[in-house]
Amino acid sequence: MCSLLRPPALSRLICVRLKTMAASQFPAAKRSGELNNPSPAAYLRFEDPQAFRVKSLWELIRALGVFRLCSFPVLVNNCGKLMSFSRRVLGKRCFCMVLRPSVYAQFVAGETEGEIADSMQKMSSLGLHPMLAVPIEEDLGESTGEKRYDDNLSAMLECVFMSHSNGWSNNPMMQLKITALVSPELCVKLTSLLKTELYDLNLLVKAMDGEEVLFPGLTESENTHLLFGLRRLNKIGEASVNKVRVLVDAEYTYMNPALSLITMAMMKKFNQQSAWIWNTYQCYLKESRNLLLDAVQTSINQSFCFGVKLVRGAYMDKERKLAEKEGRTDPIHESWEHTNDSYNGCLELMLKLIAEKPERYMMIVATHNEESVRRAVTHMAELGLHRDGNSVCFGQLLGMCDHVSLTLAQHGFSVYKSVPYGSVDDTLPYLVRRAQENRTVLQGIRKERDLLRQELHRRLKEKISRSTKRNCAGNQTKGQVGKDF
Ligand SMILES: Cc1cc2nc3c(=O)[nH]c(=O)nc-3n(C[C@H](O)[C@H](O)[C@H](O)COP(=O)(O)OP(=O)(O)OC[C@H]3O[C@@H](n4cnc5c(N)ncnc54)[C@H](O)[C@@H]3O)c2cc1C
Repeated sequence: MCSLLRPPALSRLICVRLKTMAASQFPAAKRSGELNNPSPAAYLRFEDPQAFRVKSLWELIRALGVFRLCSFPVLVNNCGKLMSFSRRVLGKRCFCMVLRPSVYAQFVAGETEGEIADSMQKMSSLGLHPMLAVPIEEDLGESTGEKRYDDNLSAMLECVFMSHSNGWSNNPMMQLKITALVSPELCVKLTSLLKTELYDLNLLVKAMDGEEVLFPGLTESENTHLLFGLRRLNKIGEASVNKVRVLVDAEYTYMNPALSLITMAMMKKFNQQSAWIWNTYQCYLKESRNLLLDAVQTSINQSFCFGVKLVRGAYMDKERKLAEKEGRTDPIHESWEHTNDSYNGCLELMLKLIAEKPERYMMIVATHNEESVRRAVTHMAELGLHRDGNSVCFGQLLGMCDHVSLTLAQHGFSVYKSVPYGSVDDTLPYLVRRAQENRTVLQGIRKERDLLRQELHRRLKEKISRSTKRNCAGNQTKGQVGKDF
């Protein structure tokens, strides 16, 4: 669980109130090149090591080291075991001392208020928006009691507060995992009930409002837990509406229908004027396009605004293994190319809807894939969508594919970095899961490594030539002094 941060202390410490500078940091220089060739394929090549000029020498070396480690499949595939082994051998203190400046610093914003503020400040100055993510997640068999879910709620509310109270972004967003507030077991039960029962969104909205609703198919204790869970989510909605856009994560197919039902109920309640609650669509699922179309239809029928986080999907291996074990058809597209087509299809669908009604639909193109980003940018231009408008933005994880994020930001697009925060202990399970989920991306980060290396060489050359010049100048002065005497 994330350590709690007290809001008043936080606002005292973070005195620098930065307005987002997505369009103002670099664009004049960057965009002048664009005037000669306005095709996104030409100006979004993501090959400019300048994107890394803003990184310190240590940050360059750290990123290179971490990505090099991530290029060994054996390390990434077994990182959970390796971490717990190292922790046992080194002891907690030593283990933290090794992890903190390396892997942790690469992918996590920090633990203390000052560390988080520093990271956010830096991100804002680069034209990137932070999208805070409390790294709490639970899977089956990891359920905790009602008290723990209430503590998670406090951490989430603190995240809402931090997201909007510091001026880190003019359109703040955060991520939310429903399984941090409602037990995964109940989500699985609800998912299986949804195969035969229809749950009216109004029923869930009534429960959020505090009515004692009886949900069909649940035992008394399950019903009570769902009521508590919905009230917790209601508090998040009330705290964030008109302030922070809350992006609900998609998880495993054995619980996603329940998560979507709850998210749609939140949308129904809080998205009347604008999309404050968003849902995530995983395009690696064969049914992703239909799920998206159904959700769009529901939002039209029930008159609420609709926000989408579009991802390829993070749980491929586990989904496939489970389907095989249970003798079910694999829910995942058979190849990366099929997932790609599905992503492109959903992307185009949403962009068209946004072009028609930008006040009702919003989307974050959450991917590290350069081709998907270029495609989105090309369609945006064709449809006349503003790059720094609120309706379409881009998202990548902190510490990953900075060359994509920084290039987009330099060209005036709205870019969010998903930012986890918390102690090493709190974020370790998050780091292990993310490493495994993103190992295809991590292992393919060759281009980012090349760009980092180029920037490192440039700096070393610059340093050497500067010190050579200084030595020459020194010798000349000595010679001069000798002559004078
Ligand atoms: C801001 C942000 C928020 C996110 N939120 C979520 C979330 O809520 N839920 C979630 O599940 N994920 C989430 N993700 C992770 C995301 O789903 C991907 O795992 C990750 O971003 C890699 O996909 P990509 O498009 O960046 O990279 P790419 O390298 O283009 O694609 C890799 C992805 O393609 C798919 N793929 C790879 N091989 C195959 C194959 N053989 N057959 C079929 N498909 C294949 C997998 O989904 C894999 O992760 C999020 C990512 C970001 C950046």
